[in-house]
Amino acid sequence: MRTDQDPMGRAIADYHQDGKAARLRVFSPMFDEDEIPVKTLFRTLQEMPAIEQEALRQARGSILDVGGGAGCHALALQQMGKQVTSIDISPLAVATMQARGVQDAREQDFFTHDGQYDTILMLMNGIGIVGTLSRLPAFFMQVDQLLAPGGEVLCDSSDICYIFEDEDGIIDLTGIDGYYGELTYQMQYKTVKGSPFPWLFIDPETLIEQARACGFQAEVIARGEHYDYLARITRVKR
Ligand code: SAH
Repeated sequence: MRTDQDPMGRAIADYHQDGKAARLRVFSPMFDEDEIPVKTLFRTLQEMPAIEQEALRQARGSILDVGGGAGCHALALQQMGKQVTSIDISPLAVATMQARGVQDAREQDFFTHDGQYDTILMLMNGIGIVGTLSRLPAFFMQVDQLLAPGGEVLCDSSDICYIFEDEDGIIDLTGIDGYYGELTYQMQYKTVKGSPFPWLFIDPETLIEQARACGFQAEVIARGEHYDYLARITRVKR
């Protein structure tokens, strides 16, 4: 990814260097403008949501941290004595991870990465990088390439049906074009504005169903405080 089109990488690099950063702004046609507090990308194990802590506890063997960002999960895993490779498409994020002590951080795209792992970790709506439901078969094919026998994916997401709730608490999903969890995001940091990209939030039932169609089995292993959940995905035994 080009550095002049990488607002999140720029924010991560600034925060690492200065201990503070400007606003990392997020735009989506579905929402009012929002922002990601850059500090949260540097969260410690204790500051992580319970479902992330649980994922780190369960991660075993050779671990792939997908979309490592500032390296918070990789650093926590290293502290626990676990073996982790962290990949990210942002060169600024990768350089920051390396500077923070992540021993194996690489600038790689999940969809073209090569390797064999016992655990694939995708946290902070990590499955979002799949973008749209239509890309799930390609995602599962790549998971099949990367997972060692008996390996598993641990990923989190949210059922964002709540954003369609009206004042009476009624959720009306009719009239939505396509799957309601398919969002488009665009980020800006200072004057660096990235291109819009598709970002998927998937509800557990849809994940379970789509996984099954691709020869995998998904199960919810923990629930968060607000429609978020942690899932385990394994190959269906043949
Ligand atoms: N997991 C981190 C960062 C989440 S932000 C955390 O929880 O704090 C998502 C990260 O995924 C960004 O750093 C982005 O550059 C990276 N990313 C997006 N698409 C990717 C892809 N196809 N392969 C690898 N990393 C990707």
